[in-house]
Amino acid sequence: MSDALQLAPTEIASFQARVLAWFDQHGRKDLPWQQDITPYRVWVSEIMLQQTQVATVIPYYNRFMTTFPDIGTLAAAKEDRVLHLWTGLGYYARARNLHKTAKQVIAEHNGEFPDNQIALEGLPGIGRSTAGAILAIAHGQRGVILDANVKRVLARYFAVEGWPGTTATAKVLWSAAEQLTPDQRIGDYTQVMMDLGAILCVSREPKCSLCPLEDRCRAKKEQRISEFPGKKPKKAMPVREICMVLACNQEGEYLLIRRPTTGLWGGLWTFPEVEAELLAGEIENRNWRQVSSSFAPFRNTFTHFHLDITPVQAECTVPSTTVASVDEEGTLQWVDPNDLPEIGLTKPTHHLLKLLAQCDEANFKQRSNLHGPDMTRTVHCSRYKKDLPGLDTPPMPGPRGEEIFKQVSAQAWEEWYKLQTMLINEKHLDMRDKDARRYLNAQRDLFLTGEPVDHAEGYIPPEE
Ligand code: SF4
Repeated sequence: MSDALQLAPTEIASFQARVLAWFDQHGRKDLPWQQDITPYRVWVSEIMLQQTQVATVIPYYNRFMTTFPDIGTLAAAKEDRVLHLWTGLGYYARARNLHKTAKQVIAEHNGEFPDNQIALEGLPGIGRSTAGAILAIAHGQRGVILDANVKRVLARYFAVEGWPGTTATAKVLWSAAEQLTPDQRIGDYTQVMMDLGAILCVSREPKCSLCPLEDRCRAKKEQRISEFPGKKPKKAMPVREICMVLACNQEGEYLLIRRPTTGLWGGLWTFPEVEAELLAGEIENRNWRQVSSSFAPFRNTFTHFHLDITPVQAECTVPSTTVASVDEEGTLQWVDPNDLPEIGLTKPTHHLLKLLAQCDEANFKQRSNLHGPDMTRTVHCSRYKKDLPGLDTPPMPGPRGEEIFKQVSAQAWEEWYKLQTMLINEKHLDMRDKDARRYLNAQRDLFLTGEPVDHAEGYIPPEE
């Protein structure tokens, strides 16, 4: 294969005219990053749009811009906050690079985004195509793009053989992109090339009859559209297996561990990951007790391997403060699935925390129907010291929930609920505050059993 396509000037002019005319009529002009255009806004959108569709990106982009309206606020932010806003978008190296680049632009470029290809490509996470897009859209300079969408359009239009991941095929596509990029209306041309790939020349069932390039498209003429772009040679993906331990403390909180800043899921928080053969030893070492799991195994696929995850539920048999006290570097924390702090989570951890919160909500709904006709269970109530109808389900996940289920009547629990609401209101308790939650838990235990637990010791509720 030759390294370059030699395009005739008439062909180039015709291509540009057709796509720009289509843009004028049909191109997208109301995307959030197309408003109030600045290099910062364009750069963030370009990074988010890598490997991700527009519809997915929009809510993330809007949240990101509300939190970090300019490069200074992003540079000054904690990495955890950046990763938190990225949770669910995947490819987290993009978020870490975004943060690094913001700091670098502040430190080395006086907070101004560079306006030349070489300087842009020198920033973390910005490659040749992203630099071209920033130049074209934000600075109005001639910049050439060749993202996945544009590769697909050009590979089909010119029937370029081979997988674009190979150097030879990439060279042919870049040469075509370079020649076709105009000097005028560079922002519109860049946008329309992305639009064509995203709207018409999609991977499956492209809408050729609406495409301005249809009558000259070689793949279409030869009826070989599905052959372009060439597929990546198939290689069997290795499969790795791990257990994720959902370890719950007395307060119904779950232990998360922060991963090292480099490597897979760098800097994100995850449930403790343990290989299956080491699980029993790990559970014993950490004083956990395995309980039956409510969640089925699932698969998380990365670009180069599958990760099969088995969720394992466990209870902590020692107070969580004992466990947390081993954490000197801020790499462990307990979180409430219903009240998550602003931290970056791995996708499986996010998924499992959502499931845990849903379980909790389901339990709550059942609790709300305490006096339903089906309630036949009786317990010896620790508060009223007599046999009374019990709860339908444990009122919270974890061992404390189980204990309350066994010992506390529905009536006592309902009374506690009223008292809890009163305490929160009267003492202005902020339930995002861990100490406030511990205080309330101690009040609960005192009310239900007459025996306070020590985890509220030293906490003084805010003055009224
Ligand atoms: S004619 Fe069809 S295959 Fe060719 S560029 Fe247009 S949409 Fe893609």
